[in-house]
Amino acid sequence: MARQPRVVRTLPALHRAVARWRKTRQSIALVPTMGALHQGHLTLVRLARRRARGVIVSIYVNPAQFAPTEDLASYPRTLDADLAALAGSGAGLVFVPTTETMYPAGFATRIVPEGPASVGLEDKFRPHFFAGVATVVTKLFLQCRPDIAIFGEKDYQQLKVITALARDLELGVEILGAPIVRESDGLAMSSRNAYLSAGERAAAPTLHRVLEDCADKIARGAALAGAIEQGRAAIEHAGFVLDYLEARNADTLRPIGSVQDGPVRLLVAAKIGRTRLIDNVGV
Ligand code: AMP
Repeated sequence: MARQPRVVRTLPALHRAVARWRKTRQSIALVPTMGALHQGHLTLVRLARRRARGVIVSIYVNPAQFAPTEDLASYPRTLDADLAALAGSGAGLVFVPTTETMYPAGFATRIVPEGPASVGLEDKFRPHFFAGVATVVTKLFLQCRPDIAIFGEKDYQQLKVITALARDLELGVEILGAPIVRESDGLAMSSRNAYLSAGERAAAPTLHRVLEDCADKIARGAALAGAIEQGRAAIEHAGFVLDYLEARNADTLRPIGSVQDGPVRLLVAAKIGRTRLIDNVGV
């Protein structure tokens, strides 16, 4: 059996390990996660390993990015299985900080991103979210000092927010995006898929199917507004409560009126039962 990567839980242990890598001039890649790892995460780790000698996977369920009404308490925590999954993945180090490390008593700083964090998508439905993400990711970057960090396109708006954050604050980290990994029926892999009942799981691939359908129609020349309207109806018909289905500029995430304002990215968020799913595709 492949050996599990080393687990570090404290900053001194992390800093010692990173300093050892740096001493031998090894490049370092960071893959930030909240655990409950699946093939989507492991693909990010493999990509990181192709780009850097030393790969750090962080596992931390960040309270600051959950609203009081959200699923912080029930978010799946599966550290033993995660470490087993990371064996042989290319990860050299797994950083599992405590909340005392990330938010020690007296912690009083929040990074509030703008631009792609303020376009009326996730930010409209989870107003606390991107400040929570930006603050914890900045801390992780400063703690791990990676050369590159890998984020999934699954969280497309988050990828754009982190890219702007790293650029604007000159954090010295190159941000790389990785394509979405899907189940065989098209459902984007997500730790939250574990919440789905059998009936909800059967309906869940509708999101991706509708995205692909819309993208196809738009690529063949259909008007954006009409294609999106039909997509919204199809998602609601499948039993979802829709937060948004939007066509946006793939770079800025700003609203667009036609493909001429593109490149176009279609983004969706919807609840099925108590589970909120997000997905996106390019056109
Ligand atoms: P999370 O643990 O959900 O915070 O995700 C950690 C990282 O994995 C983020 O950069 C996500 O975008 C990425 N990720 C999650 N699911 C997928 C997926 N199905 N395909 C690609 N990347 C993913």
